[in-house]
Amino acid sequence: MLRIPCPKCGTYVFISDAGSFIPCPQCGAIFSGKHGPDKRKEPRTPKKINFSLSLGDRTYKASASDLSASGVGIKVFGRPPLARGEILTLPIKRPIMQAKVVWVKRLPDQSLAGLQKV
Ligand SMILES: [Zn+2]
Repeated sequence: MLRIPCPKCGTYVFISDAGSFIPCPQCGAIFSGKHGPDKRKEPRTPKKINFSLSLGDRTYKASASDLSASGVGIKVFGRPPLARGEILTLPIKRPIMQAKVVWVKRLPDQSLAGLQKV
């Protein structure tokens, strides 16, 4: 695990390998330890996409934002058993997107997670 400051807001973010881009949980900036801020020109989708996330035998209400070609940020309502490294199937795109949980932030009634496409 590496601890890297966000180049935009300075929040420290944990990342498993320096070459991967992750979104900052604080300001949403995309960056990696090795490459710094994400300068790729890929457009990100600012609008929220609501979807149902199936985990085990339960379904949670969720929404996705900051959808880019390499990853997505999601918000899941309730207390989902999300774990880092877990692969989720997100029915937000066609073909259906599979993404790995890079970070999870638990709040009292919802969880935020950053995912990277696999
Ligand atoms: Zn930041």
